[in-house]
Amino acid sequence: MTGHWETLRVRTATKIGEADENGCMPWLGALDGTGYGMIAAGPGWPTTLRAHRISYELFVGPIDQGMVVDHTCGNRRCCNPEHLQAVTSAENQRRAYARGERRPRGARRA
Ligand SMILES: [Zn+2]
Repeated sequence: MTGHWETLRVRTATKIGEADENGCMPWLGALDGTGYGMIAAGPGWPTTLRAHRISYELFVGPIDQGMVVDHTCGNRRCCNPEHLQAVTSAENQRRAYARGERRPRGARRA
């Protein structure tokens, strides 16, 4: 793990809250316009990263190319690695519909 990743890991860990009654560990930092936690990647990485993806990569493992990280709990702020699962984009959409989070029409792009 590089120094950059170590820094990011520490910054991420300090922004994940205590588990609530559902076991969800809420992101305490900034949220983006769609309700996902976000974190600035850091010096030299002029991008904003999705907090739950970082949590997954840090605590579970690398995310395969083309995969998205689904919240099995449906809570976008949640960063509990046990609630995160890497799935295909199609599977993620199917689950979101099944949970009633998204409708086929008028869905916003995440
Ligand atoms: Zn959760």
